[in-house]
Amino acid sequence: MRSMLNIDFNGRKALVMGVTNKYSLGWAIADKLRQAGAEMAFSYQGERLQRTLEKLTADDPGTPLYACDVTDEDQLRAMLADLGERWGSIDAIVHAIGFAPRTAMEGRYIETTKEDWLMALQVSAYSLLAVAREAESLLSQDASLVTLTYYAAEKVVPKYNVMGIAKSALEGTVRYLAYELGKHGVRVNAVSAGPVKTVAARSIPGFNRMHEAYSAVAPLGRGVSHDEVGNLGAFLLSPLASGITGEVVYVDAGYHVMGMDLVEDEA
Ligand code: NAD
Repeated sequence: MRSMLNIDFNGRKALVMGVTNKYSLGWAIADKLRQAGAEMAFSYQGERLQRTLEKLTADDPGTPLYACDVTDEDQLRAMLADLGERWGSIDAIVHAIGFAPRTAMEGRYIETTKEDWLMALQVSAYSLLAVAREAESLLSQDASLVTLTYYAAEKVVPKYNVMGIAKSALEGTVRYLAYELGKHGVRVNAVSAGPVKTVAARSIPGFNRMHEAYSAVAPLGRGVSHDEVGNLGAFLLSPLASGITGEVVYVDAGYHVMGMDLVEDEA
């Protein structure tokens, strides 16, 4: 179900980090911002994604596209320096980046190696801090940052393993950044999305089963769409959410409010 969004981003500049293809949640939010008139820039990991981004932004040729692996802070700084020269300031940043080595998602959490643990935390949580720090001097007075998180930050989701711990760190980072940047009017929030089929999601063992279980338990009796995640991201980045910061806002058809995953028999 597509819905109309009456949010005006004309004259606003938005950087979206973490688009692999049109199914990426980063793209779901970016598409809403584009529709609402935002001037866009994107970053992607690895040269091979450049073509994909060029195709996705074909109706707006010249959109700045940056190869930026968040583990390479020189690349991050170079991107933001270039954006600073082009735009002068940034109004919105979408951080839609997450990664854990496959070896850390297959076994038991207790067996996670230090290398895998640090890599997952670095890419999935520390990177938000790095982006905020490097972008701080460019953020406009009412700028807003949004990241993507998941329920496994607060409850055990078997097999999500170190990604759950990374999401906990990410949500904590949202709160601390919201506190420090709030003094300058900048807001920082997280969208906590129910399972949506994307490249990253498919790499989680048992994702399909998780996807089905959500629909069975969620009060709305279904999962959520890319469109619904995009709407929440755009809302949090917009002036409509001017009083909201440091929050983790769920878009999960209500799944997280359920106390147990038993579904009542329909009499
Ligand atoms: P995706 O695969 O489309 O996006 C993940 C992105 O992270 C990719 O574009 C990838 O290139 C990028 N990335 C990974 N390592 C990177 C690095 N070192 N430097 C720069 N970029 C890097 O999948 P997605 O599901 O859209 O994921 C986006 C965010 O949404 C992730 O944080 C994910 O955990 C979160 N999320 C997804 C779901 C879901 O069900 N799909 C649910 C809740 C939260």
